[in-house]
Amino acid sequence: MNLAPYAAHDATSRGRAYKEPAPLYRGEFQRDRDRIIHCAAFRRLEYKTQVFVNHEGDLFRTRLTHSLEVAQIGRSVARALKLNEDLTEAIALAHDLGHTPFGHAGQEVLNACMREYGGFEHNLQSLRVVDVLEERYAEFLGLNLTFETREGILKHCSVKNAKRLGELGKRFIDRKQPGLEAQLANLADEIAYNNHDIDDGLRYGLLDIDHLNQIELFAEQYMVVRSTYPKLDERRVVHETIRGMINHVVVDLIENSSACLKRSKVQSIDDVRNFGRPLINYSESVSRKMLELKPFLRTNLYNHTHVQQMTQSAKKIVEELFIKFIEEPNLLPTQYQERPGSDGLAGRARIVADYMAGMTDRYAIKQHARLLGSPEST
Ligand code: MG
Repeated sequence: MNLAPYAAHDATSRGRAYKEPAPLYRGEFQRDRDRIIHCAAFRRLEYKTQVFVNHEGDLFRTRLTHSLEVAQIGRSVARALKLNEDLTEAIALAHDLGHTPFGHAGQEVLNACMREYGGFEHNLQSLRVVDVLEERYAEFLGLNLTFETREGILKHCSVKNAKRLGELGKRFIDRKQPGLEAQLANLADEIAYNNHDIDDGLRYGLLDIDHLNQIELFAEQYMVVRSTYPKLDERRVVHETIRGMINHVVVDLIENSSACLKRSKVQSIDDVRNFGRPLINYSESVSRKMLELKPFLRTNLYNHTHVQQMTQSAKKIVEELFIKFIEEPNLLPTQYQERPGSDGLAGRARIVADYMAGMTDRYAIKQHARLLGSPEST
């Protein structure tokens, strides 16, 4: 890999909590990426909702395909900017590991259930998965990932939680930046979901093209495709438009970040961490276009009646299961009942949250039907 001086380098990595010999034929961040791919939480992403519940159709994004798209966009930009592709990919593949079933609806209700016990936040949970919850290795709990990968997974965090996280939490208290690969994975996430949510929303018929043409980012690319291929069928027009949108934003991100990096004169990852603001960013005009998209998708897709109906039943499932497991902890799998720290109500609540956050959509639906006798539908 031809790396810029301000990229993350194996040689200057802040290392792993549990010291291990360097890998023989791989880099440190490559090993992180490989450990993530082999962990159970990663496989469960296949059956977790992005926006549409997994069983609504085989063509919709799931958390797994979303994470792969984030990794793809992240790697492209990383290579162009001479950043560490393996680290970017590791962060991208791990960023949603802590997500509950049923997307944001699941996270909201689990957070409400956990209010008295320290709350629930999917970013922190992703970190908890790789730090302690995965039980695979003889010598340590979790995946023992490098500081840089963990730094990237913890996108945001309250000051209160940051104080509990030692070195990793320090940047939220001192208001410092994470490394460039972390900054990049964060934006690759946004580029991926904005674009694939439009695609899925159109496929499901919740969004339509006339409506989307009010959005500059969409309209610009749509016009180009329509005028270049006036006879093209609509499905291909949509694909070409979304392809154009991703390309437009990604090229802008590369060019603008490259210029920012040059101007900043940063020479190392520590210079990046100490720089007053993020260095990976879109130009002002693309930032504005991306900002326009967010409220549009919120109003027209995430708050659409169909999605909201799904959200309501998902909330009911998560809430009722949570109460059931708190009242009857003997219903939890044995290995959860035996977890250290499971005594006391707060300890028990955290273990229930860990168990429930690990559930796939369909597993939660099945458990709810089995334990609370409801029909298997959402
Ligand atoms: Mg994501």
